[in-house]
Order: sequence, then structure tokens, then C-alpha cells
Amino acid sequence: MNTEVSDKVLQVRTQLRELLSNYLWVWQDKLQQVFESLPTYKGHPNRAVAELHQAQLAALSEDSLFTGRLGEAINFQRRYLASAGGREIAYFSAEFGIHETLPIYSGGLGVLAGDHVKSASDLNVPLVAIGLMYRQGYFNQQLNEEGWQVERYNDLNIDLTCLRPVLGKDGQPLLITIPIEERQVYARAWLAQVGRTPLYLLDTNVEQNDEMDRWITGHLYGGDQDTRIKQEVLLGIGGVRLLDALGYRISIFHMNEGHAAFLTLELIRQRMQAGSNYVLARGEIARCCVFTTHTPVPAGHDAFAHELLSQVLEPYRRDELRISQFDLLALGGRGRFSMTELALNLSGSANAVALRHEEVSQRMFPYRQITHVTNGIHHLSWVSPDIARVLDGSIPGWREQPTLLAQAHSLDSEALRAAHARAKSRLVEFINGHDHGIDFQENLLTIGFARRFATYKRGDLIVKAIDKLPPEVGDRIQLVFAGKSHPRDNGGKEYIQKIVELMSEKRIRLVFLENYDMSVARMLVSGVDIWMNTPRRPLEASGTSGMKAALNGVPNLSVLDGWWVEGYNRKNGWAVGEDFVEGNPDEDEFDAASIAQLLSEQILDEFYGRPAEWIERMKASVATASFFNTHRMVSQYVEQIYKLPFVAA
Ligand SMILES: *Cc1c(COP(=O)(O)O)cnc(C)c1O
Repeated sequence: MNTEVSDKVLQVRTQLRELLSNYLWVWQDKLQQVFESLPTYKGHPNRAVAELHQAQLAALSEDSLFTGRLGEAINFQRRYLASAGGREIAYFSAEFGIHETLPIYSGGLGVLAGDHVKSASDLNVPLVAIGLMYRQGYFNQQLNEEGWQVERYNDLNIDLTCLRPVLGKDGQPLLITIPIEERQVYARAWLAQVGRTPLYLLDTNVEQNDEMDRWITGHLYGGDQDTRIKQEVLLGIGGVRLLDALGYRISIFHMNEGHAAFLTLELIRQRMQAGSNYVLARGEIARCCVFTTHTPVPAGHDAFAHELLSQVLEPYRRDELRISQFDLLALGGRGRFSMTELALNLSGSANAVALRHEEVSQRMFPYRQITHVTNGIHHLSWVSPDIARVLDGSIPGWREQPTLLAQAHSLDSEALRAAHARAKSRLVEFINGHDHGIDFQENLLTIGFARRFATYKRGDLIVKAIDKLPPEVGDRIQLVFAGKSHPRDNGGKEYIQKIVELMSEKRIRLVFLENYDMSVARMLVSGVDIWMNTPRRPLEASGTSGMKAALNGVPNLSVLDGWWVEGYNRKNGWAVGEDFVEGNPDEDEFDAASIAQLLSEQILDEFYGRPAEWIERMKASVATASFFNTHRMVSQYVEQIYKLPFVAA
């Protein structure tokens, strides 16, 4: 090989690596397309680049269309990143959904955190994010012969991610220590650069720790209470120490859910070490801590037995924090030590994630003022390529300013119909590619339901509804389900089993797709005709999958709970059980009857008989995303919660 050729090969390789030094490709299609054009690409850019042979690289380096595209992508990325500045806000979360190839999220909370970080990047908000690097991430879901969920854990290969080790001055991994029980536990950090936003992930899998401590960051939500509290000590106290070690000067600490609330203790310790007393320190840190609560289910709030808290944190309290045991326990409320109470007690601002959720949270915590910032989605991460092209054609500027999606009524009907048909066709092909003996059809009304399988989400309500209708109605519908249950939630697993049983009965056309993740979510929310959500009221804090569906022109059929209370406007979908009165004990029956009625009296006729009206409903759905996006959400956090003087990019 002559040197000129090998130089070109080297350049292609270097440039591909540069693109992979950042997760910007997740939401910038110019960058994404570079990976898609690699001969080794199967949905995983890091793997595709790693698997390129020398000969393939050589061929690519001679392909001027490819090198041109690569060069443009590099220029785009460099321009995008050039305007990143200092960081003032630290955003803490136990999980982050950035992309399916980085499986450190379990569901809505993580995806929201990922979308928050991405919008902060696009808007040039000076935010740095802190999370944990789980060696085996969240589980892979398989269903056994009995339709029972089995969890499979695999080591994540860090070489096949865009993570970089965070190094100290000596070129070795930077180590911080955190006090756990009577010892110091070590943690290193990985950096995921998410556009302009740095996301640091703490990891206890280092040789300085004993074998047990190395597994503190083994699994996301996989361990027992003991592991859980250690993970939270690492996230909160370790996170603050890491930011200090890296030289960040943070003015706002944002706790996304209570998991990170121990950070408040470390901030108090720092103030007291600098000469403040406990009472003053508490007041000082409340001015820089903000808290977002995410669940209206009391069981969803982390709480630890006092013995466990003492066992893990007593030496830290005694030797470092130096407050009384009484004071420490008082911060966690009455009874078990509640991370939510800790966060509420020590933050200057507390918010829920939707209007309805604010009301419910306010009832749960009457002594504390709670506001709300309604959740959103990062539109560029969730829009299907087909719909994006239609939007590019009609609504210039929607990528930077998703509020412009309010103009969706001006979209070309035929273009929108065709774009959705392509997404649907991909979904049907994917479903029929699985071996379950059920033949999905492109012309049938397709209803999607995908979410964490917890009992309150009532995954079987639609089936109850269809049972109320004459059999020929069932023949005009097909249903696609997906979702994981928490490993310890047997009730949720029984729901999955029920759905799988129905699938094998073949009474209605129904499939359950295994291993719901961000890639399955993208395919589902863009490919179905209706997105369904049937939580028991008022247990859905917000929900975001319905927003993803709406953005892709898919109307929602949902119980009026969570975001839909604000999102539903009669044009963009249907409200299940609209006249439901709180306290009615027959909620399941009421809502199943309502779904049956909506299907037989409105939905089927409109879908099959009045396509022009259906398209208007699709447009109204797209318009919904003009508000329910994280650009709006993050801007609201900046103005109302962080209250920093800030100028958008
Ligand atoms: C968006 C998303 C969720 C959250 O959806 P909900 O509406 O809250 O159920 C969960 N899991 C994945 C993989 C998602 O993409």
C-alpha cells in the first residue's frame, strides 16, 4: 500500500473517531448518515466503526461521496461544539437515556434526563450532568416458554461506547473517595460528551476496591436496599466531590428525583468546614439546590431503614459531617429515612412534572410548596426521519425552534400520510420478522402500548375493551405491546404473561415485542396509528411516550392523567373515561367501556372511512409537540427554577 492511500485511510479513521467522541450523532442526522453508510452498520455506530476492515476503509477513503459527507459532518460537529462555555448548573440523575447503545436507563426517568441534557446542549445552557456507570446496565428482557420475564445481564463493552476515561494529572484514572461504612470506597469517572453537555458517570469498578464494592455500580436498580443506598451515597456525595476534583464551580444543583439527595449533606459539610454552622449552612445550600419529584406513587419514593442508614453513613456523619444523629435522621422525615423528604427539606425549589402531578404531590407533601414544569421530549431524538423530512419542507426552523410545530396544520396532507405509511411499513416488517406466527398487516388500524409493566398502567384494559365489542371489530384492529417489568415486580410480570397468553390464543391480532428500549420505542411511536395509555388515575406523573407519538403524527388514546390533562385538545386524540369521577371504585370497567365506545363509535369509522379527517388529527398531534418538548421544558427550568441570567444560543 502506498503512503498516499494509507494517509487517506488514516484520515477517514481519525475523522470517524472524532465523530464518535461525542453523542451528538444521536440527534443530528447529518452525522448519523455517515455511520448509516458504513458497510458494517447495523444500528450501532461504535460497533460499525470497530468492525471496519482495512479493505473497507480503503474503499471508503476512495469514495468521494462518503469522504465529502464525512468532512461536512466533522465541520458541523466542530462548529456546534465551538460555542460551549463554562458550567454553572449540575444535574444529577441515577439514570440517563442517551441512546440504546448506552444502557444506563430503565425507562421514563432516564429518557427524560437524557432529553434534558440534549436540550441543554442545543440551547447552550451551562449544565454539567452527573450519573453512574453501571457495569451491566439495565437488563435485557427475554420471555420464557411460559411468557415469564427473565432478566439477562451482560457486561457493557466500554470500547463500544463514546465514553472516555477521566484522567488525573498523572495520566491515570482520576479517583475520588466516598465514605461508606468504616471505609473509603474509590470511584473513577467516565465522560460521555453529549453535544456541549458533559455527562460524568461514576464507577466503583476499580482495583483499589474489594470485590463487593466493585459491584456497587454493577446494575441499575438490580440490587437490594444495601446496594441502593451505596449507589445513592456515591451519586450524591461522590458527585459533588467529583465536580470539585474537576474544578467546576457550581451555583445550582438539580436533583432529578430523590436518588441524588445525599448531595445536600456533602454541601452542608463543605459549608460547615468553611466556618458556617449547621443552621446557616442549611439555609445557604437551600439557595442552590432544586428538586424535581417524579412519582405520585408513595412506594416509588426511596426510603431506607434507620439501621441501614446508620450502618452506611454513621462514620461519615460522625467524622466528616459532624451533625448529631438526631439532626441527620430528622432530615429524612418521620419513619424510614426518605430521600424525597431529604430533598424537600434542603432545596429551595421543588417541582412536579405536570400540572396534575403538582396537585397530587402537593397533597402528599402539604407542608412544602410544589410547583410544576411539565415534561417534554427532545424532538430531534424522537422524530422519525420520514416525518423530519416533511417538517423540513413545510416548517423551516422547527429543528432549532420546536414551538414552530404549532404550524403543523399547514403540512402537506399527502406527504404526511406517506411519511407515516413508511414508518408503519418498517414497523410491520420488524414485527413480522419475529417468529410468533402472527401476520401483521399494513392496512389495519394499529394500536401501540409500550411502557414499564407495572400494574397501575393496566396493560390489559384494551383487551377488556375489545371483549365488549362484536368479533368483527376485533378483526379490524391489531395491537402491539412492549415493556419491561422491574425485576422484583411480580405483579407486573404477571401482566406481561397475560398479554403473551392472549397472543398465543390468537383471538385478536396482538404481539408482544421483547426488550423495549429506545430503539424499539422510536419504531413504535412513529409506526403505529394510535398510541394508548391507560394508567390508573392519578398515578401517571407525566408520561412522555405519548409526546413522542404525537410528534410523529400519531394521535393519543389516553386516560386523562399525567401530561394528557394538559395535552388533550379534542383534535389530537381521545380521552378515555372523560367523565370519570374520582373515587369511582369501578375504574377498570368504566375505562374499558369508554375505550370500547370510542373505538366503535368514533375511531374505526374515522380511520377507515374518513381519511381526510384522520390526517387532520395527525396534524393536530404534530402541533402538540410545539409545547411538549424539552427545549420549552429546559427554558422553563432556566427561567423559573434555576433563575440564572442566561442567553440562549
Ligand atoms: C419514552 C420512553 C419511556 C417513557 O414512556 P412513558 O410514557 O413514561 O411510559 C420509557 N421507556 C422508553 C424506552 C422510552 O423511550
